[in-house]
Amino acid sequence: MLSGLNGTAIPTPSVGESSPANSAALGPSRSRWRVDLGGRVQGVGFRPFVWRLARQLDLVGSVGNSTRGALVEVEGREEDLQRFLDRLENTLPPLARITQRATTEIPRRFEREFRIVPSTHGGRRNAEITPDVATCNNCLIELFDPSNRRFHHAFINCTDCGPRYSIIRGVPYDRGRTTMSVFRMCPNCRDEYEDPADRRFHAQPNACPKCGPRLWLTGADGTAVENSPIAECARLLRTGAIVAIKGIGGFHLTCRADHDTAVSRLRERKGRDAKPMALMAPSLPVAHTLVEIDDVGASELTGDQRPIVLLPRKRDAETSRHVAPRNPSLAVMLPYSPIHHLLFAEGLSSLVVTSANTSDEPLCHDNDEAQRRLANIADAFLLHDRTIERRIDDSVVRVVGRCSAAPDSVSRTIPVRSGRGDAPYSTEVSQRSPVPILAVGGDMKSAACLHADRRAILSEHLGDLSNPATYRNFTRTVERLQELHHIEPAVVAHDLHPEYASTRFAQGLGVQPIAVQHHHAHIVSGMADNALEGRVVGVACDGTGYGTDGAIWGCELMVCDASHFERVAHLRYFPLLGADNAAQDTWRPAIGLIFDAFGLDFLRRDRDTFKTLPPTLLALAHRRLEHPRRITQTSSLGRLFDAVAFLLGICDVNKYEGQAAAALEDLALESPPVDPLPYAVSRSNHDDDAAPIQLDVRPMIRRLLEEARQGRPVEQSSRAFHETVACMLAEAARKTAERAGLLRVVLSGGCFVNQLLTQRVADLLGLAGCDVYTHRNVPTTDGGLALGQALTAAAQLRRRTECA
Ligand code: ZN
Ligand code: ZN
Ligand code: FE
Repeated sequence: MLSGLNGTAIPTPSVGESSPANSAALGPSRSRWRVDLGGRVQGVGFRPFVWRLARQLDLVGSVGNSTRGALVEVEGREEDLQRFLDRLENTLPPLARITQRATTEIPRRFEREFRIVPSTHGGRRNAEITPDVATCNNCLIELFDPSNRRFHHAFINCTDCGPRYSIIRGVPYDRGRTTMSVFRMCPNCRDEYEDPADRRFHAQPNACPKCGPRLWLTGADGTAVENSPIAECARLLRTGAIVAIKGIGGFHLTCRADHDTAVSRLRERKGRDAKPMALMAPSLPVAHTLVEIDDVGASELTGDQRPIVLLPRKRDAETSRHVAPRNPSLAVMLPYSPIHHLLFAEGLSSLVVTSANTSDEPLCHDNDEAQRRLANIADAFLLHDRTIERRIDDSVVRVVGRCSAAPDSVSRTIPVRSGRGDAPYSTEVSQRSPVPILAVGGDMKSAACLHADRRAILSEHLGDLSNPATYRNFTRTVERLQELHHIEPAVVAHDLHPEYASTRFAQGLGVQPIAVQHHHAHIVSGMADNALEGRVVGVACDGTGYGTDGAIWGCELMVCDASHFERVAHLRYFPLLGADNAAQDTWRPAIGLIFDAFGLDFLRRDRDTFKTLPPTLLALAHRRLEHPRRITQTSSLGRLFDAVAFLLGICDVNKYEGQAAAALEDLALESPPVDPLPYAVSRSNHDDDAAPIQLDVRPMIRRLLEEARQGRPVEQSSRAFHETVACMLAEAARKTAERAGLLRVVLSGGCFVNQLLTQRVADLLGLAGCDVYTHRNVPTTDGGLALGQALTAAAQLRRRTECA
């Protein structure tokens, strides 16, 4: 019997022949309890913690890893057993987390001591896999203590920190099932590893300079450099070189962030001309000189997960203009591996630290592969011989400014990409899945999810499946995720889009497929992220999602539960020319919107708005608009952002996803708050009560253009656009909530990476008395889609069996 801890009463020991109550009545109140634990209890110092706790309380028995998590047997006086359970919950080691606990009374064994026993291998492999954790303070002190035997050891770690997921080959998590198995521990390390009182007791990657992995530096041609690799690497970086550094989840390409030539050379060689690159600052005080950091930003930057945090750049930040061209935000992180700390100890300032891959290819993670693929990019390689079993990118979050009226359910951190530090993300859901389910996510920001019993596990970000190498990495990761968790799916959930590579992959697996509508999956993902059940109002806003009518949806209000949704309102459709290129060329949605707002005659007479387009292209567009019904219709909010960016002259082409929208948001943030522009929220067919409500932005488009012609500053126009969209979404959501008798509104989809939009929608809905929920741990982008797909498929299967 395993039972959840979420608010449920702690289960009392089951009544056996001698239940605690009975035995207490009989006099001698000594018992033995078996405590079965689930959650993050392996590789986090949990067993020595239990060992110390049991000894403090004079209990005998044992603790071991199990395939579910951990199994504890404790024997002693009943009040001490109860105290043991209380302290178990309340004084856990920093990385440990208990999500399930079941306590049963079993016969006494009369042992003399409490022991840590070998892992049990029976049953389902259900233990939670721990993500990779940034170097802890204790290890940092040792790293820079000349008298410590791990002084300057680039692989220092302990049970509170170090690599985990990236080195795991199987569960239970033991050294033999990690890539550290090839390193034989020296007697000193072995003693630490076996001593329950030691901080490195069963720290699986435990090692020292004598017995652990080795670090070396090579030139671009592969010849090893003899000097101390860290000092030499730092010297090269200082001179402006580009160094490929093997880290935790793969290789980074690094160079000095304040060195114009180095940064532009890196951009050129990597073939990346616009997309912002991440920085690693040596410390929080240095990060403060680069970006605006509030309390939430600081705790994200310094937390165990050490994500890349997107923050507003300071005007006088000392970085090359090539790091994030024309971008008022910077992506910043702090050092998280001993190699980073050692490099910065050489006196380096902030570095550009960007994933080592070319364009959309998966991250390099293997020495030979890196030297082959990065030969034309890196001037040198800092390598080591600890194998990276799973390549994994850095995770990315954004911090939202404080909302004045929104409730606490609005997270101030927006998860953008899941990766090193937080993946795999494992969560307990309230309802059991009838069969094991695999969900394959979207296409551009793919990530997969496994769901069995009450556990759902979401993979790291796996990238754009249109790239063949990324697609191969995706299928392999899905396979290995199943192996690692010993889950054989009987059902595969996928997006409704028939052309997604993930859809075709799902349909080729030979198990029962279930298609889930894109925006429904977004909302269910947001619900799961906030442990919400039952019906909610969902507001799903993004760039592209296949609708049930074949149109491209992207601004959808629904009333839904996990199994079913009803589309209640959406952005008024407009024609989208050249559906394939529409996400790059911002003029395409713009011309469709102008056509919808003013008509074809206006477009033909208008010499101004599209003057940057070649006349032949414009004529072709006009001709196609003569038959608007033959053109794909869209309700995409992402495309509305693109169109407005074009119309305000901010961005012609999205060189990377979301570029125009980000530019628009950044300009809006430079303007003080302004009033919304006109818009309409009304039913499309007044006679039909069931017809969806349309969010009509034609009045706004007309006003925007008029004001632009009169010379309204673009910052104010951008701000007014944001305010209009926020008011429109909030009004439609409030009306929907009122009609449905609901209070809870869930915001999900890639558009809610936009902090201004999120903050304003949340504030307005908060003022209207709604409970607003945003993503907290699972990406609000398509990276979180698979979780929603899996839970929707499970809910639909449950409904089918109930109905049958
Ligand atoms: Zn440590
Ligand atoms: Zn050693
Ligand atoms: Fe989406």
